[in-house]
Amino acid sequence: METERIKCLIIGSGPAGYTAAIYAGRANLSPVLYEGIQPGGQLTTTTDVENFPGYPQGISGPQLMEDLRTQAERFGADIRFGIATASDLGQAPYKITIDGEKVIEADSLIIATGATAKYLGLDDEKRYAGMGVSACATCDGFFYRKKVVAVVGGGDTACEEAIYLAGLASKVYLVVRKPYLRASKIMQERVMKHDKIEVLFEHNVVGLFGDNGVEGMNLVKRWEEPDEERYSLPIDGFFLAIGHKPNSDIFKPYLDTDEVGYIITDGDSPRTKVPGVFAAGDVADSHYRQAITAAGSGCKAAIEAERYLSEKGLI
Ligand SMILES: Cc1cc2nc3c(=O)[nH]c(=O)nc-3n(C[C@H](O)[C@H](O)[C@H](O)COP(=O)(O)OP(=O)(O)OC[C@H]3O[C@@H](n4cnc5c(N)ncnc54)[C@H](O)[C@@H]3O)c2cc1C
Repeated sequence: METERIKCLIIGSGPAGYTAAIYAGRANLSPVLYEGIQPGGQLTTTTDVENFPGYPQGISGPQLMEDLRTQAERFGADIRFGIATASDLGQAPYKITIDGEKVIEADSLIIATGATAKYLGLDDEKRYAGMGVSACATCDGFFYRKKVVAVVGGGDTACEEAIYLAGLASKVYLVVRKPYLRASKIMQERVMKHDKIEVLFEHNVVGLFGDNGVEGMNLVKRWEEPDEERYSLPIDGFFLAIGHKPNSDIFKPYLDTDEVGYIITDGDSPRTKVPGVFAAGDVADSHYRQAITAAGSGCKAAIEAERYLSEKGLI
């Protein structure tokens, strides 16, 4: 198989990957970045980004990512289309297979592969993507001030998102499949006594409707006849909070991950347990999952990579 030896490999082209590429490029590490199946990352699937500092009027997600890419290229980042399909982090240089046909041997590696939100799998979720369906309350809640929204999920994240949205919306339905919440006791109490949140236990959303974006959801209460009840509720926004899948599978044999698959790093730093291998952005962050925090950790990862290579005498 064809091999290529480089100093710094970055996998992923979201805010974390591109920011790492900007810093690594300016530090003369000649970074190579593989974009993966979603060039530009998650923000390419959204319209307005209003909370990324530096854009007082907001910016479209695709434009922000295009700008970050251009900025990385300006400092010499070699940005390529390709997917990392296997890894061998047993010893340096670390070997990453691209598209199953080429091996990159990297003295340092920055993993910035993100995390993918889980959806229910309804066709309507795709139909209304960016038109009322969201998997991020912090990102999109602001667009639903004084409106009615639904949050799907029964864990801590769902409760947190419901409480956050209740601070903006006029009413929040929390749609829970089970007859109870899985969230911690304290979160359950906060949700249950919130006057703007109504918990719909034993409910499943089976569809969304609306001519200009989401205007309502179709529900089934309990699945089995004869108890089953079917009805609709008007809503303006539909938020998924049923978890994310970090894109860490190919690295798992070598790195520590939590039970969901988020890569565990050394405290606030992006250092993993393998020297010279760093994890940045959502793939290592189950908590914040924002573009700016991803960009910040990409910056940290590139600074760490530069220090590591310098200490090893590799630059
Ligand atoms: C619809 C939507 C709206 C959002 N709105 C906002 C907002 O307004 N403000 C905000 O701050 N945040 C927002 N977010 C969250 C934000 O997009 C993420 O927190 C951020 O993109 C995470 O950046 P990242 O670099 O960690 O990863 P991602 O953006 O997820 O990028 C991951 C990258 O890794 C690549 N990749 C994955 N696996 C591989 C592989 N095996 N090989 C090579 N490459 C791979 C992918 O192709 C992709 O380029 C939104 C998210 C969504 C889905």
